[in-house]
Amino acid sequence: LSPRSPGEEQDGRETRLRVVLRVRPLTCTETRRGDRHVVHSLGNGTVHVNAARHDATFTFSAVFDAGASQEAVFEGSGMRQLVELAVEGLGPCLRLSISLSFSCTVFAYGQTGSGKTYTLMGPLGQSDAPGLLGLMQRSFSCLLEQSRGTGLALSASYLEIYNEQVSTHPAPVPALLTSPDPSATPKVRDLLSAGPPRALPLRWSKTRGFYVENQLSVDFESLEAVVELLLQGQQRHPAVFPPQPGISKQGTLCFVDLAGSERVKDTGSSGELSMEANNINRSLLALGHCISLLAKPRGKRTHIPYRDSKLTRLLARSLGGSGVTLMVACVSPSSRCLSETLSTLHYASRAR
Ligand code: ADP
Ligand code: MG
Repeated sequence: LSPRSPGEEQDGRETRLRVVLRVRPLTCTETRRGDRHVVHSLGNGTVHVNAARHDATFTFSAVFDAGASQEAVFEGSGMRQLVELAVEGLGPCLRLSISLSFSCTVFAYGQTGSGKTYTLMGPLGQSDAPGLLGLMQRSFSCLLEQSRGTGLALSASYLEIYNEQVSTHPAPVPALLTSPDPSATPKVRDLLSAGPPRALPLRWSKTRGFYVENQLSVDFESLEAVVELLLQGQQRHPAVFPPQPGISKQGTLCFVDLAGSERVKDTGSSGELSMEANNINRSLLALGHCISLLAKPRGKRTHIPYRDSKLTRLLARSLGGSGVTLMVACVSPSSRCLSETLSTLHYASRAR
């Protein structure tokens, strides 16, 4: 990922995770009721929040303000390089020198209504205006372009992670992130299976790492075909979109449309939980926890608790192994969303 390429050491830190911020425009409703626009890009990846008693700046690899087009987000976020890395993971077909399988992941984080789905997929199924296509369609086009004439096969899978809410009461905080029943195999739903979505076990093996058993994976050769799969899965629920790991050499590109972050209350840098939330999303909390540990210099790292959620199990390879991750933090510019916006900015900026 340019300019901070994967594995590149900066102050002894690996920079496998790139975090960008997108501020969506005020909606018609927000404008009509007189909400103020309180999140402003200052250029150079810096964003300024100025409202009520808050006056804070945060820095990211890039900031896209309300005027940024879908194309600008694709080009400016490093998404194209991520697609190229996933293809390079295919090794001998394209580049002899690279034998690793790259697992690249993009996830959108933010409160409900902040623009996560729009950023990933655009107004899917409502408008097929080329300018509005999201990161996913743009990445698929790029993948198709790169694989043309190389004999590479492209396939897609579509999963949903469900039932990862945990209650903070009355459980004591440290017990939260350990699975209630460690012997139970966690399950995810396959959104491409015929009929009702099938629950598939999420397993681990020495050779494959974490993988989803019997996950359907459908070959595609055109943008229309893969978008059709996406629409098919959407009729169920928005979710994760990772091609299946396991074949000896393959590049993987995962897109993750995370659950709304509004019920994740985390104090930020310390990684401690705030007790004010009754229900928290285990995935988001575990993800934040893994990311902040991974952001530490290697020597100071403790064990990374990928097992704490289904999401972090699925993303383990990409977060910690031979992978690169792009996090797109999404916020509303509205004064009414201030506290959620600050919470997203803290969560996202601690990953750097
Ligand atoms: P989320 O997935 O985070 O819940 P959505 O992506 O559904 O949020 O966005 C909420 C609403 O805002 C939708 O109507 C969407 O079309 C609109 N929206 C989000 N981001 C943008 C943007 N950058 N430009 C225009 N409209 C946007
Ligand atoms: Mg959404």
